[in-house]
Amino acid sequence: MAQPDTDSKRKWVYAFVPGNAEGGADMSELLGGKGANLAEMATLGLPVPPGFTITTDVCEAFFAAGNKLPDALRSDVMQALAVIGETVSARFGDEKRPLLVSVRSGSRASMPGMMDTILNLGLNDRTVEGLAELTGDPRFAFDSYRRFIQMYGDVVLGVDHGAFEDILENFKNLNGFAADTDLDEEAWREIIADYKAAIEREYGAPFPQDTSEQLWGAIAAVFDSWHNPRAETYRRLHDIPDDWGTAVTVQAMVFGNLGDNSATGVAFTRNPSTGEREIFGEYLPNAQGEDVVAGIRTPQPLTRKNAGTAPEASLELAMPEAFAELKQIFDRLEHHYRDMQDVEFTVQLGKLWILQTRAGKRTTDAALRIAIDLASEGLISREEAILRVEPTQLDQLLHPAIDPAAEHDLIAKGLPASPGAASGEIAFHSEMAEALKAKGRDVILVRSETSPEDVQGMHSAVGILTARGGMTSHAAVVARGMGRPCVSGAGTLRIDANTGVMRAGIRTFKSGDIITIDGSTGCVYAGKAKMLPPQLSGTFATVMEWADGVRRMKVRTNADTPRDARQARRFGAEGIGLCRTEHMFFEEGRILAVREMICAEDEEGRQRALDKLLPVQRADFEELFEIMAGLPVTIRLLDPPLHEFLPHEDREAAQVAAAVGVDLMHLKARVAELEEFNPMLGFRGCRLGIKFPEITRMQARAIFEAAVNAQRKTGNAVRPEVMIPFIAYRREFDILRTVIVDTAKAVEAETGVTIPFDVGTMIELPRAALRAADIAAGPKGADFFSFGTNDLTQTTLGLSRDDAAPILANYIEKEVVSIDPFVSIDQSGVGELVKIGVVRGRGAKPSLKTGICGEHGGDPKSIGFFEDVDLDYVSCSPYRVPIARLAAAQATIRRRQRKAVQPA
Ligand code: PEP
Ligand code: MG
Repeated sequence: MAQPDTDSKRKWVYAFVPGNAEGGADMSELLGGKGANLAEMATLGLPVPPGFTITTDVCEAFFAAGNKLPDALRSDVMQALAVIGETVSARFGDEKRPLLVSVRSGSRASMPGMMDTILNLGLNDRTVEGLAELTGDPRFAFDSYRRFIQMYGDVVLGVDHGAFEDILENFKNLNGFAADTDLDEEAWREIIADYKAAIEREYGAPFPQDTSEQLWGAIAAVFDSWHNPRAETYRRLHDIPDDWGTAVTVQAMVFGNLGDNSATGVAFTRNPSTGEREIFGEYLPNAQGEDVVAGIRTPQPLTRKNAGTAPEASLELAMPEAFAELKQIFDRLEHHYRDMQDVEFTVQLGKLWILQTRAGKRTTDAALRIAIDLASEGLISREEAILRVEPTQLDQLLHPAIDPAAEHDLIAKGLPASPGAASGEIAFHSEMAEALKAKGRDVILVRSETSPEDVQGMHSAVGILTARGGMTSHAAVVARGMGRPCVSGAGTLRIDANTGVMRAGIRTFKSGDIITIDGSTGCVYAGKAKMLPPQLSGTFATVMEWADGVRRMKVRTNADTPRDARQARRFGAEGIGLCRTEHMFFEEGRILAVREMICAEDEEGRQRALDKLLPVQRADFEELFEIMAGLPVTIRLLDPPLHEFLPHEDREAAQVAAAVGVDLMHLKARVAELEEFNPMLGFRGCRLGIKFPEITRMQARAIFEAAVNAQRKTGNAVRPEVMIPFIAYRREFDILRTVIVDTAKAVEAETGVTIPFDVGTMIELPRAALRAADIAAGPKGADFFSFGTNDLTQTTLGLSRDDAAPILANYIEKEVVSIDPFVSIDQSGVGELVKIGVVRGRGAKPSLKTGICGEHGGDPKSIGFFEDVDLDYVSCSPYRVPIARLAAAQATIRRRQRKAVQPA
C-alpha cells in the first residue's frame, strides 16, 4: 500500500499531560478505550502520568503496509516523547535522567489481557546506571532492566519466556535464593548478562541498546498483537469486529516497586459481584502491575472492611493518604462517567497515579443493583438504568451458570442452543435417561440428533447434547421451550448410541461418565463443573417493572404445554404467540395417534386416528386457555415435518401397524412412500390440511369446544387466534379458513355459545411476505400475521434449518456473515421481507395484528429490529420472556432517542 499522504492524513498522535489533553472519552474509536479515558482523566486534572496515544488509523495503515509503521509517524512520536520528557524532567535515551515508558494496547472494546504490553522501555546498559544513580536504588534499577529484557525478548523478539524463567530459576537454585525479592544488584547483573546471551542465541542478534529501536519494535509488536490467536478468539466470542484494530498508548512509567511506600493495585468503585456501594479491590505493596497479574504474591485488600482479621494489611491503614485520595478520585470518576469504574493505580513513593479507568465488568446481580442505585442517586435516569443491563445477562439469573473462576476440561464446542449449564451422567437413549432420572440421578441426554421419541428423555435429562442440528432444529426448539440447557451441533463429537460410546478427539466417554454442558456458550466439558445457582432477586423485579412501563411491544410466549405456559406467565408473558400443536403429541403415549393419522391410507382410517386425538387436544387447549386467563392465545394448526414423526425403528413401526390394522411390511411400504428427500420443505403446514381437511376440522373443533368449556369454567372471555402455517397463496388461506369458520358455526350450533375468534397466518415463506396485501385483504383475509422467521430464514437463504450449522460455522470464519442468521435476524435480507410483509399487510388491512414467533423473538438485537418495523408483539420461549421484556424496553428507548436527534 502507498504510504498515506502526510499532509492530508488525520492526526496520528494525541498527547496528554495532567490538566491538558488532546482528545477525550468520546474518541475511543480512534484512541481505544484506554487512550480515550486517559485523555479524559488528564483534562479533569487527575494524576495520570503524561503520555500519548497512537491512533487506530495507524494500526490500519500498519496492517495495510504489511506490518510496517508509516515513516511519517516518527516525527510525531518524537515530538510527543519530548513533551512527556519535559513534564517529568527526563529525556528518552538520556544516560543521566532517562525517561522510561510503558507501551500498551487499547482497543475500542475492552479485551482484558488479550494483547501485549511492554513496561520499563528505554533502559539499556547505560541508562540503567543513570536510573540507579537517580533513584539511589541500584537493585530496583537492575530488577527493572531485567524485567524489561524479559518482556521485550518475549513480546517483540519472540524468545520463549520459558527461557528467561529457566535462567532465573536455575540462578536462584544454585545460589540459594528463595524469592525474587532476595536478589541484589549483583545477582540481577549476572542474570541480565545471561538473558542477553539467551536473546542473542535464540533471536540471532543482540538485545537492542538503541532506545528508539526499542520503541519502534514495541509499537509494532503491540499493533501486531491485535492478531494473536488469543485476541482473535476473544473477538470471535465477543462479536468484536476484526477491522477495529487497536490504538497504542505510550506513557511515562511510574513505579510501584520503589519500596514500602510504593504499591500497585486494581479497584472497582462498587462491588462487581453484588453491586454494593463499597470500594472493592486489591493491591500489592512494593510491586509492579505484572506481579499482581502473575499471581506470585497474594494481593491485599484495599479496605479495612474486607481485610478481615488483618486490617493493617489494607491500603486504607497502610497508606491512609493515598487511600483517601483514591476514594475522592473514585467519587469523581463515578460522577463524571456516571457508572461503576474499574481503575488501575500505582503509588510511587507515596504519590498516587491513576493508570486506567473503564466501565467495570459485573455480574448480572451487580448490574441490576448498580443500575437501580445510580438511578436513585440521581446519576442516571430510569431509562438509562434500563439500558445499563444487558438483556442476555439475565440468563445468569434464570439458570445455573458455570463458575467462571473454576478450571474446566473443555472437550468440544457446539451451538449455544438453550441457555444454562448442567452436569450429569451420559445417557445415549431416552429410556435410559428416564430410568436414571427415576433413580434420582442427573442425566445429560447425548444423541446424534433428537426426534420426538426423545422428548420424554429430554424432559428427564438435566441437559441435552447433540452432534448434529442447528439453532432452530428440533432439539434446540424443544429444549428452549422446556428450559433445559442444550448444546446442539457439536460436530467434532462422534456419538455411537449402539455401542454406548462418545468420542471427542482421542478421548472416549461411555454411558454413565459425567460431563457438563454450557448451553449459554456451547461448551462441553469432561467431569462435573462447579456451578452457581440461579437466583431471582428483588432488583430483578424492579428492573422488569421499569422495563414494562416503557416498552411498546407486547411480549408473548411460545408454549405448547400447560407446564411451559405456567412457567412463561411466571416470567411475565402476556399471552401465547405460538402453540405448536404437533409438539403437544410429544408426550408419552400420544405420538402413536399422530403416526396413525399420518400413516392412514384412507379417510376412514385417518378419521379413526383423529377421533382419538380430538379429546386430547381439547383438554390441552382448555388448560392453556385457563392458564392464560383471557390473555390472547394463538394456536397453530398442525405443522409436522414428516421425518420427525414417521416411525423409524421396528418397534415403533410395529406399534403403528397394529394401530392402523395392517401388517408390518405393509406399514413399512407406506412409510417408504411418505419419506421425503427434504422434509423441511415437504408436506408441511397448510399443505396437510388442504389435502386432508378432516385434520383441520378436528383441530378447529378442539379449539372451539375448549374455548366454550374454559369460558364456562373461568368466566374469562376467550378469543382464540387460529393460525395457519406455511401459507404461500391466498387460495390456501381461503380453503382452510372456510373449514375453520364452518367448524366454529357447527360448535356454536351444538353448544349455543358464540366464540369470537380470529384467523391469521404465519408469514414464513418469501411469497407470503411479498403477497401480504393479497393475504390480508378484505374481511375474509388474515386477521393477523405472525412472522415465522425460522422458516423465513431457511427459505430466503435457501439454507436448511437442520443442516445449516457446519455451513454457517465456515461462513462466520470466512466473514461471509458475522452472526448465525437463525440466531439474530438477517436484517437486510430476511428483515426486508418482514418489513414488506408488515407494510403491505397493513396497507390492505389497517387493523392487522403483527407479531413474530420465530426464535428471533427472544434475541435482543432482532427485537430492536422488530421495534423499528413496528410489530405489535414478539413471542419467544418461556425462559427468554424476561430477556425479551427488557430488550423490547431498550428498543423503545433507543428508537425514541434516535427520533429526538433526527431533524424533523
Ligand atoms: C418459524 O418458522 O419461525 C416458526 C415459528 O415455526 P416452526 O419453527 O415451528 O417451523
Ligand atoms: Mg415455521
